[in-house]
Amino acid sequence: MCNILRVRWTIIPRTPPEPRIACSRCGGVRPFRSSGKIRLNANGRTLDAWLIYRCTACGNTWNRPIFERRNIRDLDGAALEALQSNDPDRVRGWAFDLDVLRRKAQSVDERADVDVRKEVLSECDAWTSLEIGLAVPFATSLRLDRLLARELGIARSDLQNAREGMRIRTEPHHPGILRKRIKDGTRVRIDLAVDAESRLRWRAAATGLTDHDNPRAAEIG
Ligand SMILES: [Zn+2]
Repeated sequence: MCNILRVRWTIIPRTPPEPRIACSRCGGVRPFRSSGKIRLNANGRTLDAWLIYRCTACGNTWNRPIFERRNIRDLDGAALEALQSNDPDRVRGWAFDLDVLRRKAQSVDERADVDVRKEVLSECDAWTSLEIGLAVPFATSLRLDRLLARELGIARSDLQNAREGMRIRTEPHHPGILRKRIKDGTRVRIDLAVDAESRLRWRAAATGLTDHDNPRAAEIG
């Protein structure tokens, strides 16, 4: 019997991480911000590509290598076009590549500001469990408990203690996962002992939909 409301939350961070680097102009270790612009340099048959960052204090630039000395023939047309046009999706991928930034910088400042896109995967009338699947395409420092508390409108302490007839399981399951940064593919299952009215409230929070007459099962994937 169907008793689960399944939703997917796609988490899109608003601000890319900012590496802290010694600025050669203003003379301190400063956060540098991605300009969203790519710089290319052709040398014979090879190409260098950098993502340009700017010092948040003085505007000095830092060229972060994307690749260096790459043979132009090894690049397909689409990749070259993306580099030449500062393709926002590609730039985003590089700007959020935390592993690379951590290797290049003394430290990396991260923000936890995100947009959450909510989709209903499947739904039935008398559901008693809410299953949230997280899609996290870009690194964010946002903690799982903060995300759930904010989006579901409940206190973090209630999540930790699973109060008021609420039972929470996560996959993967490990102690402290609620306090860790959110990861792609995590699933959160919340069992609720709820009446019809509070079910509507939970549904609105989980799906972003307020109209109960919306098509119930948008079968996706
Ligand atoms: Zn500076």
